[in-house]
Amino acid sequence: MAGNDKKTEGWRPATQLVHEGTLRSQFGETSEAIFLNSGYVYENAEEAEARFKGEADGYVYSRYANPTVSMFERRMCALEGAEAARGTASGMAAVAASMLCHLKAGDHVVAGRALFGSCLYIVEDLLPRYGITSTLVDGGDLGAWEAAVTPNTKAFFFETPTNPVLELVDIEAVARVAKSCGALTIVDNVFATPLGQRPMALGADIVVYSATKHIDGQGRCLGGVVLGPQDFIDETLHTFLKHTGPSLSPFNAWVLLKGLETLPLRVARHCESAARIADFLADRPGVTRVHYPGRADHPQHAIAKKQMAFGGPLVAFEVGKTKADAFTFLNALQIFSISNNLGDAKSLATHPATTTHQRLTPETRADLGIFDNTIRISVGLEDAGDLEADLDQALAKAT
Ligand SMILES: *Cc1c(COP(=O)(O)O)cnc(C)c1O
Repeated sequence: MAGNDKKTEGWRPATQLVHEGTLRSQFGETSEAIFLNSGYVYENAEEAEARFKGEADGYVYSRYANPTVSMFERRMCALEGAEAARGTASGMAAVAASMLCHLKAGDHVVAGRALFGSCLYIVEDLLPRYGITSTLVDGGDLGAWEAAVTPNTKAFFFETPTNPVLELVDIEAVARVAKSCGALTIVDNVFATPLGQRPMALGADIVVYSATKHIDGQGRCLGGVVLGPQDFIDETLHTFLKHTGPSLSPFNAWVLLKGLETLPLRVARHCESAARIADFLADRPGVTRVHYPGRADHPQHAIAKKQMAFGGPLVAFEVGKTKADAFTFLNALQIFSISNNLGDAKSLATHPATTTHQRLTPETRADLGIFDNTIRISVGLEDAGDLEADLDQALAKAT
């Protein structure tokens, strides 16, 4: 393994996303190699002993580390400005590990109540089964975060913008509360994308991604990543992952690594089109409300301006009045596909109340701003004019 032949320090993100972390083999391949292997061989027994003792560098087993996975992790570190990272099999493996690796019975977690469904399951159902209590708060209410702190609070967890109606959490202010009580701030940064928001620069300790979304960006594979300080990642998290095994497949790591090369181009287009579509929807008579952090009418637009580079790739809105209106609208779409996924080249639309958030009561949904006529769209890479025309013809049928 010759390693990277380029010194990438000082390069801007678009350059690092093409070159950082490349481990070139003795064959001198241009594109990164896929090391699709589980194990490694040693020159002799002494070498094996030294690697197991951590006295010699080198790979031991792909559940612990793998060269293609390492390339992805190093490139993600450069992008995020993090000291260290570990890839995981999915975004949920990253979220679960970021909490389970350091929390223990008796600890307490404070989390934003508007969470991706499986994240809510971890905080609300799974952690309490192991004696880790949790309090869910309105993420936009700073006083609620402060009031929820107990002497045992060890972690703050939230996403911003939130799923699905894109409410914001003031990362800097909430991280300051966490720091003052000695808790780690863990941010799920999927909806903003790594190019749109830098939680660590705002005081967060740990950032997690579902790489399944914009990092892959073409709907091909699952993956996740946890980024943070060297000691947390290399000791606390690594030990947990090594022994519990939610490893990122080297093949998927390679897909994600190649995704990073085009991430700035894709995210710029996703967000430019999303901003345009949010404005377009706000002017349609059949649309009663648009949620988009980049618009001046977003109730937390000031926070968006402070912490987000752009409004993001997702838009939520209310169409007509009823579930029937929303379903007529979804069923009439021709370019947008009905899918709960997001961050794909293909534009996707979903009805949160009957899919991702169906397990909540109507009252809880209403509290979270999710109504029977709420639609969330993930804006893809198609021509924005075509997408507007598609939304327009579906609105005409629904309202
Ligand atoms: C998709 C998603 C996850 C889960 O990621 P998977 O890769 O599907 O496991 C977690 N958080 C957010 C905000 C997501 O969008």
